[in-house]
Amino acid sequence: MVKALILHGGAGAWRIRPGVEKSIEAVKNCTVQSWKVLNETNNALESVVEAVKCMEDSGYLNAGYGSVPNLLGERELDAGLMTSTGLIGAVAAVKATRNPILLARIVAEKTPHIILAGENADRLSLMFGLPPLPPMPAHVAERYRDSLKKVFGESSPDPYYESIRKFVENNKLFHELIRGLINVSDTVGAVAVDDNGMLAAATSTGGIILKLPGRVGDTPIPGAGFYASRNIACSATGWGEFIIRSMPCLKLHLEYEATRDIELALSRVMEHVNNTVGSNTLGFIGVNEEGRVFYAYNTEAMLIGYVKKGEVIVELKPEPNVEVVDVR
Ligand code: ASP
Repeated sequence: MVKALILHGGAGAWRIRPGVEKSIEAVKNCTVQSWKVLNETNNALESVVEAVKCMEDSGYLNAGYGSVPNLLGERELDAGLMTSTGLIGAVAAVKATRNPILLARIVAEKTPHIILAGENADRLSLMFGLPPLPPMPAHVAERYRDSLKKVFGESSPDPYYESIRKFVENNKLFHELIRGLINVSDTVGAVAVDDNGMLAAATSTGGIILKLPGRVGDTPIPGAGFYASRNIACSATGWGEFIIRSMPCLKLHLEYEATRDIELALSRVMEHVNNTVGSNTLGFIGVNEEGRVFYAYNTEAMLIGYVKKGEVIVELKPEPNVEVVDVR
């Protein structure tokens, strides 16, 4: 039996965020739920879709209902999925779909395309009767207001907020729009393998808070935010621009195919990431065809959930780390 799965609730500066217990609880519930689906269906795709849909619905993770807004207070969501059997689909910058991962699956299974974007992707969601995105939860709106204060209040040491502030100051139109509002990163992902040897990966996000409207990150881009081959399934999280530049999931597939040694492949991928885009940039989870699950991240923390010998384990891992977990 190779059946295995692992979920993530994002990589970043998790420890300093208020309300983190609710996010941990959400990953725990979704790990239980998707493990049940994997056992009942023996289908890796069904279980990763269930895992990501469950996290999108939680409201306490940055995907689906809990997604963080862009600079203008709107939500634009990205998601993608892929299996070792050749199924692949993604959606980018959707605004009205509660579960972008379900829409990504429709793109994969029912259209001749791989990525659909924007309001026409939302229309497809209506055509297939998917639920609409509800208004943002109060705690997300509060986080948006706090982030705006960081941009416009006392100067922030965070280079990301500094870069947004500079952009807004240099672009008068944005300045006007934002001054009139005082309105608000932890992507979710899951990978699994079933007893038939099918591997599947799924990722979903609201993107990076205060992103420019129209910005699309790594999440709907195969090889960057997600990837699945006959050997590995991978789901990434972190700073999308750095993930796209370093392509950790594709790189993992290539390194593992070349070495057939998962520990070596992981260390090579992280070396490549650190050399090309630097530390504190990203993390990913994965599973191989033998049912070995693993995670690697160079950020302050990462939230993960998996099942080891029948026990559900959810951890907010501190300090950058690379680990292959023996789940059997
Ligand atoms: N990777 C996502 C993005 O850049 C954000 C995240 O993982 O938290 O859109």
